[in-house]
Amino acid sequence: MDQNTPLKSLDDWEEDVVKRYPEPNQKQKEDYRNYTDSPRDALVRNFYKINHQYQTYDFVTAKQEEFLGLNKRKMSVWDALDYLNTLVDDSDPDIELDQLQHLLQTSEAIRKDGHPDWFVLTGLLHDLGKVLCLYGEPQWAVVGDTYPVGCQFSDKIVYPEFFAANPDFSDERYNSKFGVYYENCGLEQVKMSWGHDEYLYHVMKDYLPKPALYMIRYHSFYAQHREEAYSYLMNAEDRENFEWVKKFNPYDLYSKVPVPPDAKALRPYYEDLIAKYLPAELQF
Ligand code: FE
Ligand code: FE
Repeated sequence: MDQNTPLKSLDDWEEDVVKRYPEPNQKQKEDYRNYTDSPRDALVRNFYKINHQYQTYDFVTAKQEEFLGLNKRKMSVWDALDYLNTLVDDSDPDIELDQLQHLLQTSEAIRKDGHPDWFVLTGLLHDLGKVLCLYGEPQWAVVGDTYPVGCQFSDKIVYPEFFAANPDFSDERYNSKFGVYYENCGLEQVKMSWGHDEYLYHVMKDYLPKPALYMIRYHSFYAQHREEAYSYLMNAEDRENFEWVKKFNPYDLYSKVPVPPDAKALRPYYEDLIAKYLPAELQF
């Protein structure tokens, strides 16, 4: 098993999240811990094992230094969408949904519900940080649930037992309840495990309204937006904006529709929307 690509497809992780948090009134929520019944479950389990072992405070610091200078590529949003869409998997043709279609389905579902245009735009953009994969980054440092590093790992994070192999777990600087932080210090002070959320936040941070930036930055932080495990690190601004993160999450998880959106027909609408908020090219 290649440590860099424990999943067959990045979508394996997303599908697994939907299994953990099924759409209300759709399926009965079953006990996630019993989910070891399909080949994908074993891959996802192994994915988290590696993720939880290697996402340390020092690892995140190194990745921030490597990527947050935003000097990898200069791309328009549409170039980035096309680039992201080259993430094609050779496996599982029937569950195949290309990345652009996931983004369009998310944004179109938000638009249909009459939300503000920046919310619709956020739906289109929210996973663009996955271009990290195209720079050769390992899957476990691109996707997966995110969580704070530098303080105790919550047992509300998926597969918490795997944190025992993380060096920070037995490092007294990092393994107390507050670790390097303090009560209600605010998430701005908190380093999150490294992945597509944090990266895209930095690409977009000068251009979008605050709630949109929270949705981008914390959309994979299930331990908080679903489990409320880290409220003690949050300040009033975080609490207010997490209402938006929660509002966003169902569109991310449950917007799959049988007929895929027509990307070509929708493009003019989105080109206008992109131009309203973002420069012609962005630094990635
Ligand atoms: Fe995502
Ligand atoms: Fe998504």
